[in-house]
Amino acid sequence: MSERIYNFSAGPACLPLSVLQKAQSELLSFNGIGMSIMEISHRSSHFDSVIDSAKQGLRSLLDIPENYQILFLQGGASLQFSMIPINFLKPDNTADYIVTGAWGKKAIKEAARVGNAVALYNSEDSGFKSTPSWEELDYSSNATYIHYTSNETIEGVEFKSDLDVTGTPVICDMSSNIMSKPIDLEKYAVIYAGAQKNIGPSGVTLVIIRDDMLAKVPENQHTLLDYRAIAKKDSMLNTPNTWGIYIIDLVCKWLEEKGGLKEMERENKDKAQILYDAIDSSDGFYRGHADRNARSLMNVTFNLPSEVLEKQFAEEATAQSLDGLKGHRSVGGIRASIYNAFPKEGVETLVGFMDRFREIHG
Ligand SMILES: *Cc1c(COP(=O)(O)O)cnc(C)c1O
Repeated sequence: MSERIYNFSAGPACLPLSVLQKAQSELLSFNGIGMSIMEISHRSSHFDSVIDSAKQGLRSLLDIPENYQILFLQGGASLQFSMIPINFLKPDNTADYIVTGAWGKKAIKEAARVGNAVALYNSEDSGFKSTPSWEELDYSSNATYIHYTSNETIEGVEFKSDLDVTGTPVICDMSSNIMSKPIDLEKYAVIYAGAQKNIGPSGVTLVIIRDDMLAKVPENQHTLLDYRAIAKKDSMLNTPNTWGIYIIDLVCKWLEEKGGLKEMERENKDKAQILYDAIDSSDGFYRGHADRNARSLMNVTFNLPSEVLEKQFAEEATAQSLDGLKGHRSVGGIRASIYNAFPKEGVETLVGFMDRFREIHG
């Protein structure tokens, strides 16, 4: 098959076509050097220019001030669940966690191995459909940090604003909505994101960390778990994911060309609205999973009247080149992931399919 199809995968997810084409055109000879970017030293001047450009792109798109360092790690966002408490939580310290979905649940579990991890909010019993308002939370007075997940990828639950607290460092897992809209970066002490949802391929994790947090890393930390050591060596303590960083650089250039994160937010709102409108106007045939005020712009989750229909829906959609719509194995249902790179025409095509499917089965 040479035609591209509409890929609703939650991650690894679709990348911009022009990024893939650029990578393809440079695959055998990067910048005319006669070698692929995958085949050259991470300590070469060629790769230096790639990692510098990727950092510059991220800095400019996200408006990252100079007192924050940009790191490219491995181990996925999942390793950050451990690295955060290992670096910032002592056995007798408390950290506050806001648990709005499966990823936040995994994060607090790792923190509890290290110190006192308090769930300020946990909506698991009601099916992870909601986000709290920031004001209703009872923050610990002595927390060393507050952790939350800005977009819960599996349930399709997203916070609509940045947490704004003074004093306590805010740490956020932004894996599935980073760069989907502008954020107020200075409200955060640490942001991390696995690249494979919105900014690149799997195997590279972006960490944006404020200098005062680097200063808090305990002495005698295991080297590869030590943010300060990694920052000092510019993410090159060991061999980084050179290919992944290269693709992130290309994605940043694509985003700049598109007009940056404000434009992305406009497009993402537009795409999500089309899909949620189709759900809401289906006379209850399609039922959105998340509460309306917590609906994700990135992962649109919904159910059909029965599991049998959901299975049929996903299978028929796949046959019509609408792939990856089956919900996460832990929750079932349907999930349409519509990250930055996912085109509006794909959303419109899905809505057409949904209308036809409902006419037959509704
Ligand atoms: C995908 C995802 C993760 C896990 O990412 P890995 O890179 O597979 O470790 C963590 N948090 C969120 C919000 C995610 O979407």
